[in-house]
Amino acid sequence: MKHPRGKYRLLSAFLFVILAANFLMAQKVREGSVPEGQKMVPTGDGSAIAVPVDPAAIGKAVVTGNGINYNGGPVLKGNPVPIYVIWYGTWNSTSPTSSNTMGTVSVIDTFLNNLGNSAIEKVNSTYGDNTGNVSGNLTLGGQIFDTGSQGTSLTNNRLTNIVTRSLSNGLPTDPNGVYVVITSSNVSERGFCNQFCGFHTRQTINGVDIKWSFVGNVDRCPAGCEIQTTGPNSPAANVGGADGISNVLTHETEEAISDPDLNAWFDSSGQENADKCNFTFGTTTTCTAGSLCTGAADTAGAKFNQSFGNHNWMVQQNWENANGGACVQHL
Ligand SMILES: [Zn+2]
Repeated sequence: MKHPRGKYRLLSAFLFVILAANFLMAQKVREGSVPEGQKMVPTGDGSAIAVPVDPAAIGKAVVTGNGINYNGGPVLKGNPVPIYVIWYGTWNSTSPTSSNTMGTVSVIDTFLNNLGNSAIEKVNSTYGDNTGNVSGNLTLGGQIFDTGSQGTSLTNNRLTNIVTRSLSNGLPTDPNGVYVVITSSNVSERGFCNQFCGFHTRQTINGVDIKWSFVGNVDRCPAGCEIQTTGPNSPAANVGGADGISNVLTHETEEAISDPDLNAWFDSSGQENADKCNFTFGTTTTCTAGSLCTGAADTAGAKFNQSFGNHNWMVQQNWENANGGACVQHL
C-alpha cells in the first residue's frame, strides 16, 4: 500500500526498488514496451524481464480481460485463509491519547474474525488459479506478542527475524496462511510512512514458502496513511490507529491472498488488485448516534463504508476481476 499523497508515488516506487531489492513486490515491475506475445515478470532484484506468454497457464478457473493480468502463479484458496498476527512493540499503553492499546488489539481481532465472507472480502473471490478461486473467507488464525526482540528501528531483515522467531514462539509454520507484523506507533520501519503504509512479500523460512506482511500503526503518520484521524472505532478524538490499521490490513491481505508468491495477479504496470483502488472508498455513511460507531466517532462525524461484526469500518475498495473490472465495495 502506497502513501496516499500523489507526490510521493514516484519517489516511492524509485526508493523502494533501492531499499528493498530482495523483496519481490509487484509494485516494482516497471512499465515499458513488451514485445507481442510476451509479458513482463519480476526478477526479484527490482527489475523485470520479458518472457513468452504461456497460453497453457490460463486454466478454466482463471477469468481474464478485466484490467488485471494472470501471471501463472497460485492464489491462496483456504476456506478460511488463516491470518497470523504478530503484535510487535508496545501494545499495553493505557493513555487515552494512544492507540497502542489492548483496545486496538481487540478491535483488530474483531475485524479479522468478521472480515471473512464480508461484502468487501467477497470481491477477492473473483481471483483464481488453475485449480480454483479464492474463497473470500479468512480468519484470525492466531496471534502472539513480540515486545521488541529487534528493537524499535526495523529493517526488512529485522522483520524477517520477527516472522522467523514467531514460528518457534507459538505460531504454526503454515504455507497457506498470511503472517502480519503490526508495529506500535513508536516503532519505525525503513520506508514506512514516507514511501508506504504497508507491504506484503514471501520468503522461504525454515524451508517453507511463508507469506508475510508489514502493517504499521498509522497513528505514527496520520497525514500520510490514515483516511481520517477519528475513525468509526476511535476510542477518543484523533486516536484513529485501529481504523487505519484495518484499512491497510484489508489492502495487504487481499493482495497476499490473490498474489501470495508475487507471480499471480497484477496489471501490466505491476499494480496488484488493492493497489488499483488505493485509498478509494466509494459511497460512505457518516457516524451518528445509534450507528454502531463510538461516541468520539459520532461527535467527529467519522465516515464508514462497511458494517460487519457489530462494528462499522472504513476500508478501501478492491478491484473486481469481473464485469470489465472496477473498484467496488461489494460484488
Ligand atoms: Zn499493495
